[in-house]
Amino acid sequence: MNSEFRQDYLLNKYVIITPSRSRRPRDISEETVVRRNAPCPFCPAAVKPKKIIDKIDNGHWQTLSLPNNYPAVSLTNGKAYGAQEVIIDTPKHGVELGELNESEILAVLTMYQRRTAALSKIKGLDYVLIFKNNGARAGASIAHAHSQVFATNIIPPDVQEEITAAVNYHAKHRRNAYADIIAKEIKSPRKIYADKLTAAFCPYASPFHYEAWIFPRRLVDNITELTATELKSLAKILKKILEKLHRLNLSYNFFMHQVISNPNQYFYIKIQPRDSVWAGVELGSGLVINSVAPEAAAKFYR
Ligand SMILES: [Zn+2]
Repeated sequence: MNSEFRQDYLLNKYVIITPSRSRRPRDISEETVVRRNAPCPFCPAAVKPKKIIDKIDNGHWQTLSLPNNYPAVSLTNGKAYGAQEVIIDTPKHGVELGELNESEILAVLTMYQRRTAALSKIKGLDYVLIFKNNGARAGASIAHAHSQVFATNIIPPDVQEEITAAVNYHAKHRRNAYADIIAKEIKSPRKIYADKLTAAFCPYASPFHYEAWIFPRRLVDNITELTATELKSLAKILKKILEKLHRLNLSYNFFMHQVISNPNQYFYIKIQPRDSVWAGVELGSGLVINSVAPEAAAKFYR
């Protein structure tokens, strides 16, 4: 395959897919675990019960939510209004989310639902982002598996831009942009997995090596609207993808693309491994070079 320019489904963003530059998967040995000498603040012995905001337990806690001790935004700061929490995925130290079993991952996704629901009821909060930084290159500062919640009163420009693009798409084609993207990709070589409830694929113009998106087939605004069965299906495919990613030993970020209430955008999960370093071309031009074709990445995940 020769190099080619590809445009994002909806946005005015471009990548250059350059498979001839890629190496076979893969022989990197990146340090994804952050090592520290201090005692782990997320292990059960260190968690102070009175700090717990929410927990799911099963005799002992499976996952819980705590306040972020170093927040950038807070409900008491009118100049940077918002809320931040840390979700401890599991009491087990040294285990990644993808290594947990399906019911443990389901508990984490259920906690994402509960925190999104709780925070979206707070006056002035219009946007709830749930994300994970896994590994040093993804920005993780603590090794113990955890996720983060960031809620604020502004819809970020990137999200707004996508909403506008989806509205324009609908005006032009009289069809839902996301339904069209899913329908196309589950028949393409970029498909990772699809059943009646969930679809996963590598996006056509992936800016990141091995980027993967997971959509519930029933389009919803945010994670709170998914049924228990849909969430279970999501847990299954998320595990499948994270297990494969673990073999590459890459740091990754994933996040829930969602807003609290907007009929023109939909919930999905974006998984973005942090392999390539964006250098002169990316920083100077905004064009991103990706040497792992999404078609090859999807084959790897399948
Ligand atoms: Zn720990």
